[in-house]
Amino acid sequence: MLQYHPQQFVENLTNLSIQRFHFIYDKKAKKVLASHPALQELADAIMNDSRDFDQHEGLFFQIDPEHKTLQGAFVHRTVRGQAAGGTRYWHYETVEDYLRDGLRLAKGMTQKNALAGIWWGGGKGVIAHNPQIDKQDPKVRQSIYRHYGRLMSAMHGCYVTAEDVGSNVIDMANVFAQTRFTTCIPLEYGGSGNPSTATARGVVCGMIAACEFMQLGTLADKVIGIQGTGNVGVALINFLLEQKVKHIIASDTNAQQVQHLQQKFIGKNLTIRHSENNDYSILATDCDILAPCAIGGVLNPQTIPMIKAKIICGAANNQLQDPMRDDQLLHDQGIIYIPDFLVNRMGIVHCANEQYGRVDNDPEFAKHFNRDWHHSIHQTVWRLLTQAKAAQVPTAILAVKQADELALQPHPIFGHRGQMIIDSLVAARWHEHVAE
Ligand code: NAD
Repeated sequence: MLQYHPQQFVENLTNLSIQRFHFIYDKKAKKVLASHPALQELADAIMNDSRDFDQHEGLFFQIDPEHKTLQGAFVHRTVRGQAAGGTRYWHYETVEDYLRDGLRLAKGMTQKNALAGIWWGGGKGVIAHNPQIDKQDPKVRQSIYRHYGRLMSAMHGCYVTAEDVGSNVIDMANVFAQTRFTTCIPLEYGGSGNPSTATARGVVCGMIAACEFMQLGTLADKVIGIQGTGNVGVALINFLLEQKVKHIIASDTNAQQVQHLQQKFIGKNLTIRHSENNDYSILATDCDILAPCAIGGVLNPQTIPMIKAKIICGAANNQLQDPMRDDQLLHDQGIIYIPDFLVNRMGIVHCANEQYGRVDNDPEFAKHFNRDWHHSIHQTVWRLLTQAKAAQVPTAILAVKQADELALQPHPIFGHRGQMIIDSLVAARWHEHVAE
């Protein structure tokens, strides 16, 4: 089944009259249990996947009855609170790719949320695109995301979703039409709006902390290289110009965007150039700090040897192609890598906190940017670099260790309630309730 295309899998499930199913980690048996005997083979494969499976508490799935998309919610850890993380809508070639993506991304959210010091666990939603449908059609999208909202409601709040790659704020409004367990909804419905400016500000905090730690002074005389000038990249340029950096060298694959920004920033200390998709020469820029703000996997054995920057600190998710190998390669080359999931936290912080109401100049957001709070970006980066230097270990590996420890601190009010919710869903035979 792992090698099936998701639609072939959906067809198989339909033939077996399965519309909802789950895989739950049974702590006593130390085993992943499938809701249906016919799916135990998949549960065993998940259990044996030592790379991406990390005793995820529960994985819940449904087939949306209208467009036959495979919709999943991967709950990794709920010790610190409800699992929070966005829903990815993506094309997958195999069930294995689909499951691996959900497992890996959910675990990453636990680490990001824990390191941010917020009382949320980690999870991720994944919807596999059905190639037979037109995903640009607003009616189709409305139906898919409304069904996804019903899945959220059916999970009773052990997972709270948000926006991610392939989903947008209109999609989240459609989820919201069916459930209270979503964030990232439009401003007019009480959401928190686009978090990109806050994300960029978090990246700047990381850069400042790293420069200070390395006794390189302020950002004022630094040359910064930026890959990607989208929502975060542009906000980052604005912040860096405010900090009076010496020069910014940026690249983007979108020619129109490049032209627009060349006009917008005319006369500023900024060089922006158009690059092709496979052109990574921006990473070789002669600069002090490099900020990947476009796509994942850009730090790898091909690109790392050409990097001249002393510090890498950017917003793009999953910058290291292979977290263990590439973290070590950067370390060996004497480059300080500030982990992406540490400095790009503000997207999920924005979304996760929107449930608690909106405040202008919100102190709950501001504390992430100050120097006093234990979990602020500045303090977390400083602590990480101090410990990494003392132990002579790469930063990302250490940051994951620190995040994993924090992820096991129970929510101060609700304790490990997410697990109780999962247990009660299983006891009520969740998989026998049909998705409408
Ligand atoms: P975006 O889509 O607005 O911008 C990305 C930009 O990168 C686009 O302009 C695109 O043309 C460009 N690009 C793509 N491939 C490129 C390449 N090979 N070389 C140069 N440019 C390239 O996205 P964004 O919201 O600015 O986010 C940027 C990154 O940060 C993404 O990886 C995203 O997942 C991550 N992130 C964003 C937020 C947020 O608040 N927006 C939060 C956390 C993480």
